[in-house]
Amino acid sequence: MTVPATRVRQLAPDLWLLDTIFQGAPGVIASFLLTGPSGLALVDVGSAVTLDTLLASIRATGHQPEEIEHILLTHIHLDHAGATGLLLRHTPHARVYVHHIGAPHLIHPEKLLESASRIYGEKMRTLWGEILPVPEERLIAIDEGAELRVGERTLTALYTPGHAIHHVAFHDAAHAAIFPGDVAGVRLEDIAYVRPPTPPPDLNLEDWSASIERLRALHPEILYLPHYGPAQGADQHFSELRERLFAWGEIVARGMREGKDDQRLSADLATASDPDVARQAAADGAERAEEAVRRYELATNYLMSAQGYVRYYRKVHPEALAN
Ligand SMILES: [Zn+2]
Repeated sequence: MTVPATRVRQLAPDLWLLDTIFQGAPGVIASFLLTGPSGLALVDVGSAVTLDTLLASIRATGHQPEEIEHILLTHIHLDHAGATGLLLRHTPHARVYVHHIGAPHLIHPEKLLESASRIYGEKMRTLWGEILPVPEERLIAIDEGAELRVGERTLTALYTPGHAIHHVAFHDAAHAAIFPGDVAGVRLEDIAYVRPPTPPPDLNLEDWSASIERLRALHPEILYLPHYGPAQGADQHFSELRERLFAWGEIVARGMREGKDDQRLSADLATASDPDVARQAAADGAERAEEAVRRYELATNYLMSAQGYVRYYRKVHPEALAN
């Protein structure tokens, strides 16, 4: 058996960044490993397709998957929670923590898979692999304010809807750190560009904006982004995210008034955004600009984003679509 390549980085004595190397691309989907007396913990676990990379990454830190006691999920989308069911076979002592609205969909993933299939179509299997249900007895449904002792930290769950109705961020007050999930958007390593991941079916700009302001008010010194890695300058980061979240909404609403379909709306978002991604990547000297564009698209694609806004406007703001 060949051991998959790993890419792990120690961020603090008790904290590791594990790259799941999604679709062979580095720095797109992360898992975080916390160690310490309250038991090993993972925050988000990535796609089921990258389970072997995740397991090899845990071993690369000097630990064993069997030691994992806590699996914390910011939300149930497949790029964060897809590997959970399979992972439990390798982590006999682990329990899964997820917001109570998301919990039933881990136990019975049919609806979740149906909703993802509408976005990903025939790419479902390649991207997300085999999704196993999470046995109910291994799952702990959490709510706003839940305090979790994991590793050597205390994390508080903050209910932060907007990206998903069941989304939580994990606040580590003692370290002025937040594991914000997708509420803090997508900002790849070494590129100062924040992109809002706006999938259907729950996208809600008002809720998301309130969640952003809530996290901002905690004055975090560091955000541990699932897409991707540690990020400083939270104030500026949140401002850029919020601004783009609404600017993209304007683009999609205008396109919808003009009768454009999802594909054309998606193209409008790309036209408005990709030149900025490329320019920022070049300015930050990170890599070839087209490679940065490709990795952002892997982390959160434009078609999914367009579909998220379309559903949001039809459901929440039909008046915005009147000509
Ligand atoms: Zn995500």
